[in-house]
Amino acid sequence: MESLQKQVTDARKSVRRASAMPKPALQLSVIIPIYNEEDSIAVLCERLFAVMDRLGRTFEVICVNDGSRDRSLQVLREHAVLRPELKIVSFRRNFGQTAAMMAGIDHSSGDVIISLDADLQNDPDDIPMLLDKMSEGYDVVSGWRKNRQDAAIRRNLVSRMANRIISTISGVHLHDYGCTLKAYHHDVVKGIRLYGEMHRFIPIYASWMGARVCEIPVRHHARKYGKSKYGLERIFKVILDLIVVKYLDRYSVKPIYLFGGFGMASLAVSLVSGFYMIWLKLAEGVSMILTPLPSLTAMTFLIGIMSILLGLLAEMLVRTYFESQNRTSYLVRETFNLDDVDDAG
Ligand code: UDP
Ligand code: MG
Repeated sequence: MESLQKQVTDARKSVRRASAMPKPALQLSVIIPIYNEEDSIAVLCERLFAVMDRLGRTFEVICVNDGSRDRSLQVLREHAVLRPELKIVSFRRNFGQTAAMMAGIDHSSGDVIISLDADLQNDPDDIPMLLDKMSEGYDVVSGWRKNRQDAAIRRNLVSRMANRIISTISGVHLHDYGCTLKAYHHDVVKGIRLYGEMHRFIPIYASWMGARVCEIPVRHHARKYGKSKYGLERIFKVILDLIVVKYLDRYSVKPIYLFGGFGMASLAVSLVSGFYMIWLKLAEGVSMILTPLPSLTAMTFLIGIMSILLGLLAEMLVRTYFESQNRTSYLVRETFNLDDVDDAG
């Protein structure tokens, strides 16, 4: 059993190596989103490079300056002069942490991508542990802030509830989606498109695409410098984003099944309520106007028709989306004796 698993792991590795994608130039890419973190950067660089140097692998550190208004960019530049591995992508304005992660991934050339917060709440010393776990054959290793050092109720409790909801809806069971400290194989995240607050859903996406995902507890420290960029409103964005992600996964190819299904259910309610209304009138002589049934019948009838029409509209959008970008509605993991196939993302 064990040896079979190892064979599969080895086969996956060789497939990855032989895949149509260009081979990554480096072993590791560390991606750090930065927004107004001028005080943390020096300590972060010192601690991160100490760890990375010890690993003895080829690496790059990509800092994405997300439109900071403080001296973050200057401080980064000063460090980049000393360390050529430190690369900087600087945004024109603040686009948010997800956009920063995307830019980091787009500019990275490492086989394994590690994401990390700039504020030292994540501990760079945990990176070797993540990499050990990756070498067991996982495609995504996600950090779990088991001992989270943020405001107890306002942040920790709320986020625990949010994590439960995300876990239930997505079917990918992690304790902590919001922890930035994660490691990914570059081929599960290259080409991924993220919007809103969706960087936390990368493991979910990856898992839906067939990646092997696991979670390990990591350290978490209280913020020493600067302050958190988020408040409670983030929770609503996260839940709405989750609905989008779930919708895109389940119905992006056939939206009519969702809209049409809802529309048919609504029409069924309309039918039942219409017949009941007529039956009441004929059998019991109850005036239709005295019951809420006429409004219910009319409303559900209209909603039903509108939903089906919306579904048709969505079907046209989907066709434009797939066909204008030459996308396919499937993903290929590997092929044999075929050399002109690349997997669509
Ligand atoms: N961040 C960013 N753009 C933003 C907000 C935050 O790049 O618009 C970065 C921030 O600099 C930090 C990371 O994302 O490195 C996490 O932010 P924060 O520590 O404020 O989040 P929290 O730990 O409070 O959830
Ligand atoms: Mg933080």
